[in-house]
Amino acid sequence: MSNPMKGALRCLPAAVTAAGPIPPAAENLSYSMLLPGGAYCAGLAREAVRGLLTRHGLAVLCETAALAASELVAAAYRFTPDREMALRVRWQYDALRIVVYDQHPLHRRPDAAEQCRDRRSRSMWLLAAAVEEHGGDWGLAPALTPDGGTKSWALLHF
Ligand SMILES: [Zn+2]
Repeated sequence: MSNPMKGALRCLPAAVTAAGPIPPAAENLSYSMLLPGGAYCAGLAREAVRGLLTRHGLAVLCETAALAASELVAAAYRFTPDREMALRVRWQYDALRIVVYDQHPLHRRPDAAEQCRDRRSRSMWLLAAAVEEHGGDWGLAPALTPDGGTKSWALLHF
């Protein structure tokens, strides 16, 4: 007689049942979320980042990280209002990486792209000040998709 549960039991990963669930820690902090793109998303990103860092034992980075996320999302909103954007929060190589991908349209003329990048860089003075005060870094780069898009990021050390 066949056992109807046999297949299901085989599907259970042995490591999880043996060691128990993996608790949140810096090492497994890795989240991605899509934001609808409204101005309110800056506040939402701030709260999400605070919650994630607290849960993963990185509360010491909360204030700077929340400000960084908020500034990245706010800049994405200013330059591409009401378009969906992606927020990634990840701990990797002993640093917190906050990355925002937006859908800013591609500039066909290189000088226009350069001016846009300059304007955006200058608008991020608060992010620059906060991140640099903590020995971190930030930047902007084209997202390299067919439709354009900008990748903006902040990196914070523990
Ligand atoms: Zn532009």
